Amino acid sequence: MVFQNIPILRAAGSCGIQYDRNVSGAEVRAQCPFCNDSRKRLYLNTERDVFHCHRCKKSGNSITLYAEINGISNAAAYRELAEQAACDCPPLPFSQKDLCRKKSENIIKPLAERSQIYSDMLQMLELLPKHRLNLQNRGLDMSAIKRNGYRSVPKKYGRLYSKTMYLLSGKYDLSCVPGFYRKNGRWHMAAMDGFFIPVRDAEGQIQGLQIRLDNGGDQKYKWFSSNGYPEGTKCSAFLHVVNGKTGKKTYITEGALKADTAFSLMGRDVCLIALPGVGSMKGLDSLLQKLNISELTEAFDMDKDTNPAVQMSVQRFYELMKETGVAVRSLKWNPAYKGIDDRLLAGKRQEGLAA
Ligand SMILES: [Zn+2]
Repeated sequence: MVFQNIPILRAAGSCGIQYDRNVSGAEVRAQCPFCNDSRKRLYLNTERDVFHCHRCKKSGNSITLYAEINGISNAAAYRELAEQAACDCPPLPFSQKDLCRKKSENIIKPLAERSQIYSDMLQMLELLPKHRLNLQNRGLDMSAIKRNGYRSVPKKYGRLYSKTMYLLSGKYDLSCVPGFYRKNGRWHMAAMDGFFIPVRDAEGQIQGLQIRLDNGGDQKYKWFSSNGYPEGTKCSAFLHVVNGKTGKKTYITEGALKADTAFSLMGRDVCLIALPGVGSMKGLDSLLQKLNISELTEAFDMDKDTNPAVQMSVQRFYELMKETGVAVRSLKWNPAYKGIDDRLLAGKRQEGLAA
């Protein structure tokens, strides 16, 4: 077996080690991940591809560096590094930013793997009472809350966060899974205060996660993404499907949580599709084709009648449906209720009053 040489800077970069970029000699100074020295007393020798820390005296080569940081065997470390080199990473010297940009454009873990990893993570997490209450107040009942798998984002570096990251990274390769990144050899999640909303395809697989932010201001939802982080990647704006079976009456709305809520409030065997935003229709035509849908009830938010930007997006939607040959019926309601979920919830409360 011929061993290929792994440059020390590539190994260091893969470990998330910060090093001086503008160096002409063979010795490159870096922050030591073993003793967390901030004065850059770790020396990376680019001629011999070895490292030595003048503070904690740790030393070794590209393979042992990567192996120690990631807690894996030297053989596994060599395999991973050789794979990274083969996967067409840009030639040295490269900046970490270039590497991430390249990765986010080219590679995102396949759907089946993402879904498995996200499902497993959600199993490990909990739903805080304040988030359960938020969901109940929208009109979701307990069985829907359980079925859909919402979970609170764990507090960064807290007990549950650390435990979850430890278990997940031990079980899976988290590189190129949106929301995760590796820093100083450890895996992290791009955590924000809020709760996770699984965004699913027609088969119920989790394509990605949205976070309903606790303190979002104007922006209430964000994708769980690690774009620009080491070994992270961005999350696409995925379509969300609820009860995706062919032959069902199908509604289209905007926002995964809204579709979940509307489904729960309707209490009927219908299919709901949610665009990530009223203007994002990527993949919609192929999804409709896959589900064999020829008729659709459009239930976008009622600002479709008043907001010019929304009007334009809705118009584009109607044009696309015409091209696709899907008949659309527009659903309207009292504009005092913005979303279909608000309207349904109000209806349900009135029923409750009348009964
Ligand atoms: Zn050190």
